[in-house]
Formats: sequence, C-alpha cells, structure tokens
Amino acid sequence: MATSEPRNIADISPPSDLPNHADFVIIGGGIIGLAVARQLLLSDERRSVAVLEKESTIATHQTGRSSGVVHAGIYYRPGSQKAELTRRSVGMLREYVETHGLPYIECGKLVIAASESEVPLLRDLEHRATANGVPGLEVVDRAGIERREPAAVGHLAIWSPTTAITDFVAIAERIALDVTTAGGMVISDAEVVDIAQSATKVGVVVGTERRLITAGVAVVCAGVQSDRLAVLAGDSAEPAVVPFRGEYLRLAAAKTELVRGLIYPVPDPNYPFLGVHLTRTVHGDVLVGPNAVLAFARDGYRWRDIEISHLRDLAGTAGFRHLAADHWRRGVVESWRSVNKRAYVRDVQRYVPGVAASDLVRARAGVRAQAVDRSGKLIDDFLVGRKERVVTVRNAPSPGATAALALAEDIAANAAAAI
Ligand SMILES: Cc1cc2nc3c(=O)[nH]c(=O)nc-3n(C[C@H](O)[C@H](O)[C@H](O)COP(=O)(O)OP(=O)(O)OC[C@H]3O[C@@H](n4cnc5c(N)ncnc54)[C@H](O)[C@@H]3O)c2cc1C
Repeated sequence: MATSEPRNIADISPPSDLPNHADFVIIGGGIIGLAVARQLLLSDERRSVAVLEKESTIATHQTGRSSGVVHAGIYYRPGSQKAELTRRSVGMLREYVETHGLPYIECGKLVIAASESEVPLLRDLEHRATANGVPGLEVVDRAGIERREPAAVGHLAIWSPTTAITDFVAIAERIALDVTTAGGMVISDAEVVDIAQSATKVGVVVGTERRLITAGVAVVCAGVQSDRLAVLAGDSAEPAVVPFRGEYLRLAAAKTELVRGLIYPVPDPNYPFLGVHLTRTVHGDVLVGPNAVLAFARDGYRWRDIEISHLRDLAGTAGFRHLAADHWRRGVVESWRSVNKRAYVRDVQRYVPGVAASDLVRARAGVRAQAVDRSGKLIDDFLVGRKERVVTVRNAPSPGATAALALAEDIAANAAAAI
C-alpha cells in the first residue's frame, strides 16, 4: 500500500478571476474534465486552458461519490472503449498514485455466483475478462471463496487479485494541482449557463452575471448536465442523460472484519450496473451498495429532490419513454429495495450471510450520469461526441474514474483536432 502524505491542493480561482479567452475551456471539474485539462497542457504547455466548475469545489458529484474501485476490466465487451481504456488506464493510474504518494491498495475482488444458475453468466464474464487481458484471474470454488473472503459463500467465483481501491477525490485534487502548476486555471462557482459557437470560436457564458469567455474549443465534461449543455451548443438532445441514484449503506465498525476486500455479485446482463457489492475503502470502512433507482432531479441525491423541468425534459425524449415502458418492473423492485433496508440486505445475504440489517446504517448516495439512446437502451460504452468546436462527453459512467487518464488522452486529441 502506498502511503498518504499531506495533500497539495490546487489554488482554485474564484469566479472573479475568469479570463476573457482561453484556447480550451473545459466545463466540469470532475476527474474527467480535470484529466482532459492536464492532458491538453502536457501535450503543449503553450496552450491556455481553463476549467469551469459550477460548485464551490471540485469533484463533488460522481467523482466524489464513487465506490473508489480501480476496476481491472472484467465486465466490458472485448474491443469496447470501456475494455480498452480501462486496461490502458490502470497502469497509468497506478504509476500516477505511486508518483504522488496517494492511496492504492490491491485488495483483490471476488465476483460470486451465489447459485449454480448464475454459473453460465460467471463463465461469460471469465471469457470477457480473459479477452480483455485482466491479469492473474482465477476461477475458484466454495473453498477458494472462503480462503479469500472467510465470511462469503457461493457456488463459484472469479478472483481478480489486481482489482484495487483508491481515493478518486485525492487523485482529482492532485490532477487539479498539475493543471494550475502548468499554467492552467481551475475556477470554482463558475456555472456555464449558455454556449454559442461560430466558425472560428466558441462563446461560453458563465453565471447569472452572464460573463462571456471566448474559446477555441469547449469540452463538456459535465456529468449529469452534459446533454443539456450539448443542446445549448447546438448539438442533439439525444442520447439523453438519465440520472440513476446509487444509495449506499455502511457496515458498523464492529462488523467490518467480515470483508477483506471487494465482494461482488454476478451482475444482471440487461443493465450496465454491477449489482449491490461490498467495498472496503481506503479509509477503512466497508460500504454496501450502490443500488440503481431513477433520480427525479439531476443532482437528486434524496427521494425528495425533485426537479420538474428535468422530468419534463426527460419525458420529452423518445429514449426515456421507451426506457420507462420496458423497465418499469425493475424500477419498482429497485425502488422497493431503496426504501426497505431489509429487502436490500436480503440480496447481500445471498453471498455474505453474516451481514444483518441491524449492522448497516444509511450512508451517502451518488448519482450516475447514464446515457439512453432513442430506443430506450442504456448505452453501455463510453461515448464522446463533437459538434464543430464543442466536444461533449455523452456517457462516462463506471469505470469512468478508473479510465479517466486514458479517456482524457483521447478526448484531448479530439479537442485539439477541432481548434
Ligand atoms: C455511485 C457511483 C459509484 C461509482 N463507482 C465507481 C468506481 O468504483 N470506480 C470507477 O472507476 N468509477 C465509478 N463510478 C463512475 C465514476 O465516478 C464516473 O465515471 C466519473 O467520476 C465521471 O467523472 P466526470 O468528471 O465525468 O463527472 P463528475 O464527477 O460528475 O463531474 C462533472 C462536473 O461537472 C460540473 N458541472 C455540471 N454542470 C456544469 C455547468 N453547467 N457548469 C460548470 N460545471 C458543471 C459538476 O458540478 C461536476 O463537478 C461511480 C459512479 C457513481 C455515481
């Protein structure tokens, strides 16, 4: 395990420091926007780069609310962007955290088929993982499961020894420091409210005072807000981003010894979510989750967060109407599990029976930015689009934090080609 040292935090500028112009304006200070800014400066330090973040600090949305898992590349369709960029990024990420003394623990992961009926799906995952070049994989039986995770049970499991845990907020903060050290700007409280483009430049409008910044190229890395900003820039409303809340429970301190590393179920192949899992974090606690319930607001971290304009926009897209018609049953089940802790825990007890509802307290939630195509299909792969001088990250859900450094290389090359 690498040790943590006192963090160097980037000097994040207030909105009063907005420049009039930057070669590249990056909208969104999550791990992907920051990594794109860093990559643009690494490739050519003469560029002027400004990251605009609407919140008062960086990495507060998806990046700050993840499970903290450095995925090894098990699940993804061979040849997909997720498969290629995850495998490419793991090595880059590892080197990055080692260089900067950030936490990285290779605790390993079990993906458990709880019953014989799940074994064919587990075998499919094994084939994918092997094709993707995930190192050190083993298929283990009951005894092998118990040897690695004494509190876990199951029929058969994939053991991935190189799957790791880290602190993506600390990584994002360090990347922000790289950006400012290289002469770029990271500006907080700078919400982009409009975008316009001509043949030679992009106009980015910030805040209620409507301050204008001109840019050669704008890169939208705005998570759940990305499709909305793409529309402002003259791009299409679809694929739409549908926010799916993922709620976590935390295991009581007295029970954390039940979990040594990462314990996952076999995921439902019809959804791009990994199923409720048990995750040890680098801070020493154990999280259980996340589930996947439709959020009624883009930053809808609680059931009571409801944004009527967002629901109206969603209902106006063909993709969402198809999604709702095709998947409402699953939606009802997930919502039931969300409000009923016992139902949530019953799922977990299939592979870690020693966890009781009384051992768990509600913890934080995250909201995934999940793109849906016109037919209502949840888009599985990463998706980056470009409309003239505006590049938009349309879909970068999990393992987006793991893949951020490699994904940023591709996005930065795309943006540089548009200037
Ligand atoms: C519950 C959950 C668990 C996850 N677990 C993992 C995991 O274990 N491993 C993994 O690799 N990945 C995981 N992910 C996925 C990962 O967190 C994301 O892929 C990644 O953080 C995406 O980064 P981002 O920069 O695109 O988005 P974000 O971190 O959401 O950043 C987008 C930023 O844009 C800003 N913004 C939005 N609109 C505007 C505007 N108009 N003007 C200015 N700024 C704006 C937002 O405030 C935000 O800071 C998880 C995600 C969730 C939700």
